[in-house]
Amino acid sequence: MKRREKQFLDFMALAQEKEARATMEDHREKVKKLNEKKGSGLSASQMRGKLLTGNLVKAYNPDATVVWHSLFMPTEIFYAMDIVPFSTEMVAAGIAGAGLGKKLVESGEEYLGCRDSCSFVTCSYGGITRDLLPEPDFLVTTSQLCDPEKKLARFASRRYNRKEFYIDVPYGALSFNEALYREAVDYLAGQFENMVGFLETETGKKLDQDRLSQVFDNSNQAREWFVKINRLREGPGVIRGSKALDFSAVLLNIWGTPEAVEIYKTLYQELLEINKSRQLTDDRYRIGWIHLRPYYDNTLFDYLEKERGVSVVAEEVNYIFWDELDIKKPFHSLARKVLANPMYSPLEQKFDIYRREFNKYRIEGLIGFAHKGCRHYYSATHLAADYFKDKVPMLVIDGDCIDPRAYSFPLLKIRVDAFLETIESRRLKAAN
Ligand code: SF4
Repeated sequence: MKRREKQFLDFMALAQEKEARATMEDHREKVKKLNEKKGSGLSASQMRGKLLTGNLVKAYNPDATVVWHSLFMPTEIFYAMDIVPFSTEMVAAGIAGAGLGKKLVESGEEYLGCRDSCSFVTCSYGGITRDLLPEPDFLVTTSQLCDPEKKLARFASRRYNRKEFYIDVPYGALSFNEALYREAVDYLAGQFENMVGFLETETGKKLDQDRLSQVFDNSNQAREWFVKINRLREGPGVIRGSKALDFSAVLLNIWGTPEAVEIYKTLYQELLEINKSRQLTDDRYRIGWIHLRPYYDNTLFDYLEKERGVSVVAEEVNYIFWDELDIKKPFHSLARKVLANPMYSPLEQKFDIYRREFNKYRIEGLIGFAHKGCRHYYSATHLAADYFKDKVPMLVIDGDCIDPRAYSFPLLKIRVDAFLETIESRRLKAAN
């Protein structure tokens, strides 16, 4: 049996043994049904689930060429070269949703001898040390944002004895003057060009310009639909925030696929229909959301949305920050996309952008989920509360997206209620 086949079977066997409650209780059953359904019969969420599951299954195919890549790495070139992109952070979220987070985080902690690192990464260490993740053919890592992911990539590269291509992304490009920005774009574009050389050597295949052009077109179309979705959400609530957060458009590695175009187009049409037929979500409190959510448990969102009428109308991870890609200058275009990311900018700048963006959605409050092991987001979310304090009420929830061990909803509920009361009293003040 080939290694990836064994890894797949071992991963499936682990899924059977899950101990923690899963938010995707009947995951296997759902996946089976989804795969039996034809594309046109699926909702946007189902199409998204099917595509992500399909990509995961492809990554376990011994004949596939698989790249492990870091978060925010543009995937267009990979798709144009038939390389399956695999992101350990995204897989960790899926693992937590399937009720396996605790098990793999514990395995990762055993290896690292550390309990306070980011659980996305610790979970991935658990998956690697237990040999459950599909081995890569090579890795592409960027310096953007995440330090533990870089260490994980180095570890994986040694463990699987595979080459790693490293891309250095200049930090804080949004604050650069014009000359420095141009230099940063050239510098990064040059590295993308070199990366293509690396991929061509590793795969033995040339990058086909027509194929890249098609992939860029898919990426631009998908972007256009998502921008429309965001515009629609400036109006009355049309989608539950927990569902919108699952799209996490800027994190997903599906940019460039024809399926992404269909998914976002379908989502837009669904939301438009909801808007027209006025089957709106409860819109008692309009909230903006920073970072992600717990993937192993829905009680927080169920309480917010079903019991308190909170409508999460905008999320940081669904903010489309880049312009259309330009096939005439592909590497420069991808460089601009990467450099435009506010998450890799000085905090003042990032908060200014979010203030401007969130304003469009007429939000009355902000909730930041501060994932405790994240060196970037944990402190940044607390500093955001300071920045927004005179502008809009903000609730910071210290928690963990992947590791269910310290989660306590009753404690959270008290703070959520107090936060909503603050919004109420601000309304009263404004009315008087
Ligand atoms: S949560 Fe933070 S530390 Fe963890 S993988 Fe994401 S960016 Fe990296």
